[in-house]
Amino acid sequence: MKPITLIGTGLAGYTLAREFRKLDAERPLVLITADDGAFYSKPMLSNALAQGRDPDTLVSADAEKMAADLNATVLTHARVERIDRARRVVVHARGEQAYGTLVLATGARPIRPPLQGDAADEALTVNNLDDYRRFRRRLDDKRKIAIIGPGLIGCEFANDLLETGHACDLIGPDAWPVSTLLPQPLGERLQAALAERGARWHLQDSVIAIDHADPGYRLRLQQGAPIEAELVLSAIGLRPDTRLAEAAGLSVRRGIVTDRLLRTSDPDIHALGDCAEAAGLVLPFVMPIMHAARALAKTLAGEPTEVHYPAMPVVIKTPACPLAVAPPPRDAGGEWRYESDDQGIAARHVGKDGKLLGFALCGDRVKQRMALTRELPPLL
Ligand SMILES: Cc1cc2nc3c(=O)[nH]c(=O)nc-3n(C[C@H](O)[C@H](O)[C@H](O)COP(=O)(O)OP(=O)(O)OC[C@H]3O[C@@H](n4cnc5c(N)ncnc54)[C@H](O)[C@@H]3O)c2cc1C
Repeated sequence: MKPITLIGTGLAGYTLAREFRKLDAERPLVLITADDGAFYSKPMLSNALAQGRDPDTLVSADAEKMAADLNATVLTHARVERIDRARRVVVHARGEQAYGTLVLATGARPIRPPLQGDAADEALTVNNLDDYRRFRRRLDDKRKIAIIGPGLIGCEFANDLLETGHACDLIGPDAWPVSTLLPQPLGERLQAALAERGARWHLQDSVIAIDHADPGYRLRLQQGAPIEAELVLSAIGLRPDTRLAEAAGLSVRRGIVTDRLLRTSDPDIHALGDCAEAAGLVLPFVMPIMHAARALAKTLAGEPTEVHYPAMPVVIKTPACPLAVAPPPRDAGGEWRYESDDQGIAARHVGKDGKLLGFALCGDRVKQRMALTRELPPLL
């Protein structure tokens, strides 16, 4: 029997393989990855410092152990170069691999800002364990860090760095931190909490150039005075990695387009995780991946199963200001309503009919997360 071939051994690839093996112990499974195939906790990349964790301790199993546990072949350091749909093979750095069914779980890749300056290429991005190892090596004894992008990942890294005695400058055009997810009062609470720990904010401003300067870098801003830093972290966002799919002629919008069976425009190719756009939704978080993996495992085991998403709040790992948010659907009518005190803020997004469509909680109010989640309609 031709194998199920998966491209990617991140959370999406490995979770799908694990769920599939619960249903089918025999069908050949081949996982192909550009990296070393180690299974690690990606969310911990942005809070490992304060927990005193070295990068290697984030790995829970290497590729060999994963292959044995999953009764699968894991081809490491085998970047897939193209998908030959006519021959039903993928061509990778170590040869070719046939597929009966192919699953794309290629993740996302960092968006790099178009910068000038002789050190523009030296801003680090962190989206996998190798990036993180590089970041920790370069961090070494450095103290002054500039973070481009005051979004979720930028703020989590800032909190982690501040907690461990670093100085942080955060720069971005946003009016408040994490502005794509949080309503303004909660973003401002986070801003104040990190400022109290020493963060310097340069909001409504942008970095235009990074130059070498003793002892590290000088960042030129559009509006404000230049910033000196020993290390620059770029965290302006991720975009689904759709390159293989696009080159193979599959339908792609923001992510690789799939229906609710997680089937791409080629019925023999599926996609899930950060690379995918399932029924119009790009959801680059852990919980949607778990739901998608369970549904797709059933489909691949012979029981076609559509993915369902319940409401899935995101917990933001900023202990200086604990936050949980379930953003309302795009273009949802209605309004934010706030209750706030010294302990925190509870923001409810209420539709025109009075029903709860989303929420954002900070401080002590985070305790209401489970109760409010139960009130929300499912996402899909
Ligand atoms: C710093 C950080 C903190 C986060 N914190 C949270 C959090 O607290 N909560 C939460 O819900 N989510 C969090 N996320 C998001 C979450 O971690 C991701 O949604 C999830 O890990 C994505 O998994 P994935 O398998 O889709 O992609 P990835 O983990 O990126 O895996 C992609 C895989 O595809 C492989 N690949 C790509 N292209 C090729 C190719 N051409 N050939 C072969 N292999 C290829 C890669 O080698 C890799 O194995 C965080 C993300 C980051 C970066």
